[in-house]
Amino acid sequence: MMNNSEIETKITKTNNPLVKIRCNNCGENFILRGSVDKGGSLTTDLKMCFCGSKDIQLTLVK
Ligand SMILES: [Zn+2]
Repeated sequence: MMNNSEIETKITKTNNPLVKIRCNNCGENFILRGSVDKGGSLTTDLKMCFCGSKDIQLTLVK
């Protein structure tokens, strides 16, 4: 059982975590590979939902 700090380290090392994206406009969910930037924030190549909304939430899956 890993604790949170170990998981964070693993994420930083692999740098391509699975990220769940939820659109706040249409409610659509996507899961794709993202990355962690230098500040430790999640980013993905998907900058907006297919509906055109940029109001999206990123959540780490694993
Ligand atoms: Zn949408």
